[in-house]
Amino acid sequence: MRRQRKAKILATLGPASSTPEMIQALFEAGADVFRFNFSHGTHADHQERYRIVREVERKVGRPIAILADLQGPKLRIGQFAEGKVTLIAGQEFMLDRDPTLGNSERVCLPHPELFEVIAAGQSLLLDDGKLRLQVQDSDGQRIRTRVVNGGALSDRKGVNVPDAVLPIPALTEKDKRDLAFALEMGVDWIALSFVQRPEDVLEAKALIGDRAWVLSKLEKPAALDQLDAIVQVSDAIMVARGDLGVELPPERVPGVQKRILRVCRQHGKPVVIATQMLESMITMPVPTRAEASDVASAIYDGSDAVMLSAESASGAYPLEAVEMMNRIITEVEQDPLYRNLLDAQQATPLPNRSDAICSALRDVTRIVGAKATLTYTSSGHTSLRAARERPIAPIVSITPKLSTARRLAMVWGVHSTISDQVHNESEMVKAACETAFKEGFAQAGDQIAITAGMPFGQPGSTNLLRLAEIWPR
Ligand code: PGA
Ligand code: MN
Repeated sequence: MRRQRKAKILATLGPASSTPEMIQALFEAGADVFRFNFSHGTHADHQERYRIVREVERKVGRPIAILADLQGPKLRIGQFAEGKVTLIAGQEFMLDRDPTLGNSERVCLPHPELFEVIAAGQSLLLDDGKLRLQVQDSDGQRIRTRVVNGGALSDRKGVNVPDAVLPIPALTEKDKRDLAFALEMGVDWIALSFVQRPEDVLEAKALIGDRAWVLSKLEKPAALDQLDAIVQVSDAIMVARGDLGVELPPERVPGVQKRILRVCRQHGKPVVIATQMLESMITMPVPTRAEASDVASAIYDGSDAVMLSAESASGAYPLEAVEMMNRIITEVEQDPLYRNLLDAQQATPLPNRSDAICSALRDVTRIVGAKATLTYTSSGHTSLRAARERPIAPIVSITPKLSTARRLAMVWGVHSTISDQVHNESEMVKAACETAFKEGFAQAGDQIAITAGMPFGQPGSTNLLRLAEIWPR
């Protein structure tokens, strides 16, 4: 089974997509990576979905990536005596450390660290930005605010503080429990929410080690100040437009998305565009034209992947949403303009052996019209650097490691396969030709290009580029 497209699809699983039949149907319709959202559901729910995805993986015979998305330090207000109040523009409203139930004059904000950093003039956004409070002053115990945008406010609604770098750890106690559980299950990727600094990523990586790759969700303006450093220490990036669009005015989100994309492409880090991509498909079987255009633009810009959230997790049309994304991506990739745009943004190779080989690979496959680019990889590095080149010929990645094969399911253009270690060049050529043929990428008489590192099995030793012709069977 092979896909006829290069960019990938992430589908979030939830109540609308938890049966074996549905998860298999989503995979067959085009989902390459399944996202488990740890903001919702119990560990038992995630465990059951994990079991099903691995069973589907066995059935379809293709490696599938699972991304565990940790909730992160999402701030929330406390509760109200009546469950809900209405704030009116112009009134005063107090946030304090008193756990007693709130009213229309005050409510508890159970995050002591916030009281120290918040300053007069800054904004507090409540309930996904629907309400806005302006800070008058804070004395370490109470934050006095004036309501700018009023409305209904109920228990435990989210709080965003766009103007401040918060002195809070990237991983809460809940995140640490969820992380241990997710790693124990055997997920391939961990997503970190509300990353603000490179240290946040390094802290998580110290706990994770090589058990999973780490994707940083960019959804705080503070992260943009250290964008380059965060991209460098992460294994992938998500443009998390939901929270990002609360913390930034909506008109700034498109430019920021393009800037993040550019930086990721330069560093060769996979980048996922997420949230509200086909939002109206939560309730309708077809997207708006604007949504179709949003997905297409993300692909034209060179993203590795696009993501579905509620559309696949809790909407009425999860399968239709994946099918629609698949159709939009396929259409874009057939447009000659797509290739022009990719070529115009080609990243320059870094001065090292794997980039030199992968850059040559890109030219060689184009010049001889090779049908596939075969990359031997142990850690996944060579396949990632090949993907950074955005070659015309699909990248068929060969690795002896199941974990590497699964992780690479997230990456642009990579068709990931698992195969035993090869020991010499002739074995390598033979196995590459067989894989390209068997997986449906090349037929007798076709050329393929192969890259690997010699001696075999040593990570980071990419030094070989070989052309081969598929023999008649
Ligand atoms: P979330 O992240 O769905 O976990 O909030 C994505 C986003 O904020 O866009
Ligand atoms: Mn978010």
